[in-house]
Amino acid sequence: MLDQTPKEIAVRTGICVNPLKTCQPVGALYAALGVQKCLPHSHGSQGCVSYHRTFLTRHFKEPAVASSSSFTEGASVFGGGANLKQSVKNIFDVYDPDVIAVHTTCLSETIGDDLNAFIQELDIPDGKLVVHCNTPSYVGSHVTGFGQMVAGFIKYLAQKSEPVNKIGVFPGFVNPGDIRELKRLFGLMGVTATILPDTSESLDNPMTGTYQMFPEGGTSIEEIRSLGSVKRALALGPVASKEPALVLKSKCGVETDLMVLPMGLARVDAFIMKLKEISGAPVPQELELERGRLLDLMLDANQYFHQKKVAIFGDPDTVTGLTAMALELGLAPKYVATGTPGEAFVTEVNGLLDQYEAKNGTRVKASADLFELHQWIKNEPVDLLLGTSYGKQIAKAEDIPLVRAGFPILDRYGHAHHPLIGYAGTRRLAELILGALMDRYDRDCADEDLDVVM
Ligand code: SF4
Repeated sequence: MLDQTPKEIAVRTGICVNPLKTCQPVGALYAALGVQKCLPHSHGSQGCVSYHRTFLTRHFKEPAVASSSSFTEGASVFGGGANLKQSVKNIFDVYDPDVIAVHTTCLSETIGDDLNAFIQELDIPDGKLVVHCNTPSYVGSHVTGFGQMVAGFIKYLAQKSEPVNKIGVFPGFVNPGDIRELKRLFGLMGVTATILPDTSESLDNPMTGTYQMFPEGGTSIEEIRSLGSVKRALALGPVASKEPALVLKSKCGVETDLMVLPMGLARVDAFIMKLKEISGAPVPQELELERGRLLDLMLDANQYFHQKKVAIFGDPDTVTGLTAMALELGLAPKYVATGTPGEAFVTEVNGLLDQYEAKNGTRVKASADLFELHQWIKNEPVDLLLGTSYGKQIAKAEDIPLVRAGFPILDRYGHAHHPLIGYAGTRRLAELILGALMDRYDRDCADEDLDVVM
């Protein structure tokens, strides 16, 4: 399918080919689905929200519900205030959520709809809420859109009152399986936390035979309010979580530790030490053993990882975590790319490469696209692709194994249940990488070298 990608790299400034990101509302919609009895609402045309819902449904294999202001030509010319008013009335009448989380789209941003003013003029039923965030898609990516929606909830709902004995956590753009793993780690470390958003029960549902438009899980309104009174907060993944951390600080004075996602041995260690500092509890033996098992795997299989060239691509917070982990395993990151803009990504990855003295012509790029990544690979191949489902066309064209990690994974099932974070997540990913490398060796080796014991 991508066999015609040229090897020669021409300078491109005005066009993105095969993007490595999607639009801000996708992230905003995902964040809102992690709030209890919340209906995400897309202020734009139906086409946008159809795409956003489809994208999320394909990744999570769960229905991603959302409504739309259903712009037509009239709203595009005269503004979407009337559409929002009618939508909010219909949504509360028909679906009865506790809160509607409105995000904007390219169209409503371009015509200049003032959501702050529109929401003030709405007739909102008693006990119900409407919050919003601005998510034009010509800036940022789905990751920044996620952060904007979380910040929107804080802006509207967090309140400073009597101190509560817990911490707040912004988990970053991660899977429901990661959030469940975070909760487990908090439990083991004696930390009581409110996580915003919490998609572990809302987008990872068991089959019960009964459809629930609003699943039981998600962060409740009361919990979001209480985030203004927590003793401190943790913001995981700087690109996704910096914005809500800043808003929480400026609105309620809550201090936040901005941390990387706890992926890879050293980063999980730092995270566990932070939890130890917060709770004062010792690290339980269960975690010591998990760490030991991860180390054991890394040592046992080191010869298969050693200096295998890898291309890593996807969302910035995830990709920096994957790069840290790849370096610990002994892999050689050759290309590290994200579609989300922001030079902090490049600085962080270069810092990791320096730390491991692994900068052997490694290309690191933000605002990258998959066409360019493919061209790099055509010029100097790698042994492994580590990233999203969109790498599969490159994998096929160049006959390189792909290990799927990050967002989106559209062509596999069950992945969102498993964490990438923590010792357990790192160990599982290491095992997936190892399996891919060893399968490839078995496929390509001479018959006399094919051994059932490796
Ligand atoms: S028009 Fe903008 S908001 Fe709508 S789907 Fe396209 S990029 Fe996303």
